[in-house]
Amino acid sequence: MMKYANRMKKLGTETAFEVLARARELEAQGRTVVHLQIGEPDFTTPANIVNAGIEALRRGETHYTPSAGILPLRQAVAEFVREDRGLKAGPENVVVTPGAKPIMFYTLFACVNPGDEVIYPNPGFPIYESVIGLVGAKPVPIQLREKNEFRLDVKELRRLITPKTKLVILNSPQNPTGSVLTAEDLEAIAKLAIKHDLFVLADEIYSHILYEGRHASIATLPGMAERTIVLDGFSKTYAMTGWRLGYGVMNPELAKHVARLGTNNHSCTASCVQFAGVEALTGPQDAVTAMVSEFKRRRDVIVDGLNRLPGFKCLKPHGAFYVFPNITGTGMSSRELATRLLEEAGVACLSGTSFGEFGEGYLRFSYANSVEQIRMGLDRIGQFLGAAVAR
Ligand code: PLP
Repeated sequence: MMKYANRMKKLGTETAFEVLARARELEAQGRTVVHLQIGEPDFTTPANIVNAGIEALRRGETHYTPSAGILPLRQAVAEFVREDRGLKAGPENVVVTPGAKPIMFYTLFACVNPGDEVIYPNPGFPIYESVIGLVGAKPVPIQLREKNEFRLDVKELRRLITPKTKLVILNSPQNPTGSVLTAEDLEAIAKLAIKHDLFVLADEIYSHILYEGRHASIATLPGMAERTIVLDGFSKTYAMTGWRLGYGVMNPELAKHVARLGTNNHSCTASCVQFAGVEALTGPQDAVTAMVSEFKRRRDVIVDGLNRLPGFKCLKPHGAFYVFPNITGTGMSSRELATRLLEEAGVACLSGTSFGEFGEGYLRFSYANSVEQIRMGLDRIGQFLGAAVAR
């Protein structure tokens, strides 16, 4: 038996990929599956963006670029975040990466020492806990509670901060609950970050999938710009998951460290993809508006439908494209119900525990699928629950 590095024991994963693999197996056996597990828009990338990528390739943009990203894209990102959410940023603040995920990895690598503590939302995106462990830091979960509309409780955050706390991860709008932090939450968190000299990794990947109001970034609050890393990207907003394009906005010193990590690891983001990104940010935005209004329509259909199911209780999320219903009334654990829904009812969703221990009692459904598919999924779950109760 070969012996692999101990650190691999600390590395987690995203179960969404495993559920997708099992769903595909069932489909190969001739079963039909309603896919409500995938965290990606079902729309294709808007044509103007696709064309910009193709034109870049035809022009010969087929070479290495600077690790931090091409200047026109870093300029476009800086201008975009300035206008969109009032961040004071120039190209020196921006690092472009293949997808937004590397920003998590690189900023934790650059800011956190082994033994430091990092506070992260739970239920939350599973990669946070995984990467915190990988860099040798202690993952400290903060529970997001349904009674607080799945927003973190600032009093609880205060209690979790110790002299070893180095960084806090925020995610708003949030995966998997769709919760959105309020202006008061952000102000109170900023005060704590300044008082205890903490970095904040603000994961704003769903900043444009928001159903009321405008997205607010903690980085705009006084004293926060130098200690906040804003993570955002193109995957969700522009339906570009497969292109792999994201960015971080941070202080220029940290940006140099993050770019050097990029040089050591991925060298640079694909050049034609970066030119497509310039078009995404500077071109027409009507495709984004249309996608968000369609997501809102689907949200209302799925929330209504889930609340009609016996044993289900579902809050209406304010952003992202996920719902996180409470399923304790079914008498089943999250994992059991998620597995049985896939195997017996042909509906793929994720157990709340895929997002951490505090996800027990919940399921996550992605509504990045058509209204017809969502309705079919709801019907199938209703039939399954009816039969399960009758048994
Ligand atoms: N952050 C959150 C909360 C996400 O849900 C995701 C993707 O699912 C990402 C970051 C990563 O996005 P990307 O595809 O740009 O790497």
